[in-house]
Amino acid sequence: MRKIVIAGNWKMFKTQVESKEFLQGFLPCLEETAQDREVVLCVPFTDLSVLSKNLHGSRVNLGAQNIHWEEEGAYTGEISGPMLKETGVRYVIVGHSERRQHFGETDATVNLRLKAAQKYGLTPILCVGETKQQRDLGETEALIVSQLEKDLVGVDQENLVIAYEPIWAIGTGDTCEATEANRVIGLIRSQLNNPKTPIQYGGSVKPGNVDDIMAQPEIDGALVGGASLDPKSFARIVNYE
Ligand code: PGA
Repeated sequence: MRKIVIAGNWKMFKTQVESKEFLQGFLPCLEETAQDREVVLCVPFTDLSVLSKNLHGSRVNLGAQNIHWEEEGAYTGEISGPMLKETGVRYVIVGHSERRQHFGETDATVNLRLKAAQKYGLTPILCVGETKQQRDLGETEALIVSQLEKDLVGVDQENLVIAYEPIWAIGTGDTCEATEANRVIGLIRSQLNNPKTPIQYGGSVKPGNVDDIMAQPEIDGALVGGASLDPKSFARIVNYE
């Protein structure tokens, strides 16, 4: 049995006040029947402390959206493993396509960040996925295999979640067909040395498509952007059938 992990990625949304309001709407909607799923909220750095206090005693895990590989140092704008750990963080997104695209993240830095997360006892959620152009050129498989090969050098696959996020499906409302996501996730699994690593799908997951996505045999969860900002929508996703 593989673990199911449903994670929200708030990106650069919600102040501390808004994050507390979210929890008031979200926590009461979590159904008892959905206990088999790990629930994670990956929030902006400024929200971590307040959510850490307010999630205490709940089944929701705290996640961050980035981690630097050094313990401390002259790295303006970055955050370290010990800082996240002390704040109660358990998961951290690494290598999201928005970081690869806009902030110069490479497979080499993704690899360093993954190893740092594990070193400090956090579970990284590694994002991989192709652009529309790569898909149209038939390069999806080769790209994913190459990302995994480079990103996972020296990474412990026991303490890892992978998210397959086709870039063309992120924030576009354009979901990858559930069966196609299932196929690519099967390919990802065939590249791993641990059959138990949970592999999520991400890209326009919402209440209306989550049941189909989660019915696929290879898909072990979801990484949810836009629809995780609304407490009712995200609760519906976590409570998928
Ligand atoms: P989306 O984002 O659900 O808004 O498409 C997913 C993500 O970027 O992780």
